[in-house]
Amino acid sequence: MDNCIFCQIVAGKIPSEKVYEDDDLFAFKDIHPAAPTHVLVIPKKHIPSLMELKEEDERLAGKILLGVQKVARKLGLQEKGFRVVNNMGEEGGQTVYHIHFHLLGGRHLTWPPG
Ligand code: IMP
Repeated sequence: MDNCIFCQIVAGKIPSEKVYEDDDLFAFKDIHPAAPTHVLVIPKKHIPSLMELKEEDERLAGKILLGVQKVARKLGLQEKGFRVVNNMGEEGGQTVYHIHFHLLGGRHLTWPPG
């Protein structure tokens, strides 16, 4: 998708601080970190939001979750804990319509979120 900033990040057309990459996934530091560690884990495939995931994406959906786990371990977040967030749609706070999972850690996170 030419007009999608996350597709452009995956393609290397927009610079990013890459944390992890494999055939299906890409993870990079959020440009406006909300915690000491704030990484976005995304599939390379353009899927606009959680609600556009399809049955055919079942394997990819599982891979995303395991990818989040891999990145959390790589960044040493597993001991103290971390949070994984997916914002969906306007009221969910989604601003970029390429599905992504926020991985937040490095401080004590409060609940409920704002
Ligand atoms: P959302 O609000 O859940 O859609 O999250 C989008 C996230 O993407 C926000 O936390 C932004 O700070 C982040 N973001 C937007 N543009 C860029 C970029 O070019 N590089 C890295 N992160 C970005």
